[in-house]
Amino acid sequence: MGTSETIAAISTPLGTGGISVIRISGEKTLDILKKIFKGRNSFEKASSHTAHFGTIIDPKSGNAVDQGVFTIFRGPNSYTGEDIVEISCHGGTFVTKMVLQAALHAGARLAEPGEFTKRAFLNGKLDLSQAEAVADIIKARTEKSLLASFRQLSGKLLKTVKSFQKELIELLGLLEIELDFSEERIEFISQEEILTRIDSVKKKLEQLISSYNKGRFLRDGVKMTIVGRPNVGKSSLLNRLVGSERAIVDSTPGTTRDALEVQLDIDGVLFRIIDTAGLRKTKNRIEAKGVEIAQFYLNEADLIIFLFDGSAGWTKEDAFVWEKILTATQKSGSVVLVVKNKIDLLKKDGEANLPAFVRELLPIPLSAKTGAGMDTFYKSIQDHIFSDDRLNKNDVILSNVRHVEAMEIAVSALCSAQKSIQSGMSQEFTSLDVREALDALGEIVGETSSEDVLNYIFESFCIGK
Ligand code: GDP
Repeated sequence: MGTSETIAAISTPLGTGGISVIRISGEKTLDILKKIFKGRNSFEKASSHTAHFGTIIDPKSGNAVDQGVFTIFRGPNSYTGEDIVEISCHGGTFVTKMVLQAALHAGARLAEPGEFTKRAFLNGKLDLSQAEAVADIIKARTEKSLLASFRQLSGKLLKTVKSFQKELIELLGLLEIELDFSEERIEFISQEEILTRIDSVKKKLEQLISSYNKGRFLRDGVKMTIVGRPNVGKSSLLNRLVGSERAIVDSTPGTTRDALEVQLDIDGVLFRIIDTAGLRKTKNRIEAKGVEIAQFYLNEADLIIFLFDGSAGWTKEDAFVWEKILTATQKSGSVVLVVKNKIDLLKKDGEANLPAFVRELLPIPLSAKTGAGMDTFYKSIQDHIFSDDRLNKNDVILSNVRHVEAMEIAVSALCSAQKSIQSGMSQEFTSLDVREALDALGEIVGETSSEDVLNYIFESFCIGK
């Protein structure tokens, strides 16, 4: 893809609305504008970041297509770093397409998905982690996910990665001087010092990698499954969650008709709640299928809400479900929140008989019917998901699996650097490993990324961004 081509695309969603924006970027932007713009003033000498009212002409037919406002951003002070014009026209589907067509007839080429942002990256306006944050901001559905993406856009991750690179480059410099003077046997840095420095970067990387779960929850939402034997109040709890003042983001049928996914924004975090059939032993073929599906979502869940009927006490069927949960969590490591429902039916001194281990799980008392205990329930959800280390405003957190993978490669290269020192190998090997770690870190910000990686990232954008 040559950046000399000038690209155009509709940057607003297609549909009927107040206005639509068509964006044009590239070195021929102003030539194209000359062919499609008819206004009172010439824009040729217009300064950057100014808006001009005019008529949009299709150069092929010579017909006026619409009237609109042309906003000019002269490179390099624009999103892509190139000359950009954004045409705000009337927001009808047809008229918007006609305006785009006018730009194409005037010599622009239709932009590929993410091509504007790709150009911003190639022209050094954004690093790769910031470009990815742009896509995440567009996709963000809750306040906290937006905040996390915004933090990445403002360069927090970039700064952190740069500081690791700086430490490793300094170390590499010392290692290489030492190699140059190896004949003279001058020591520029002691073995312990090398090990300490490597260890320090490694630990910081590992800490960031461990933030990925939080980041993933913020970016993609928390998969939550409500399980329990039939009639303990699962649907009632789901209805209460959905009916609460907290916003429902979406409600779509799951992959089968037996599981429903409801997306809920709970205090700024997206929860994807799967409502499943009750779990119990059954001979009924159709019910068994439902139980199988429930088991699948149990294995998939990040957070399992296990409900039992507090007024009925602990039954064999509850024990059956609990066994299933234990099996699932052993595999997935997901978090379980135990809830004692129907507390409105409990008599004052009539605490139902619960086995000691259930009492030790400190079940949250709740009434899905009256809503008693819901506040504690909401708080426990957040506590369980983010454990004790709550999100700090300035924390850098990883939310992108590509970044995690690159950091894991860096950590493993640093481990091998440590091993080569400890086993008394030549420092050349240590240097090679440190270089590998540096390359892996460079992938995150896009310094060492291959064309394939770039294409993969930008293809996930929408057209016009
Ligand atoms: P599910 O089979 O686990 O989904 O259970 P449901 O939500 O369908 O509830 C089963 C029955 O228990 C219904 O009659 C509900 O009205 C009732 N129920 C659910 N939660 C409560 C509660 O907190 N208190 C009382 N008293 N009844 C409840």
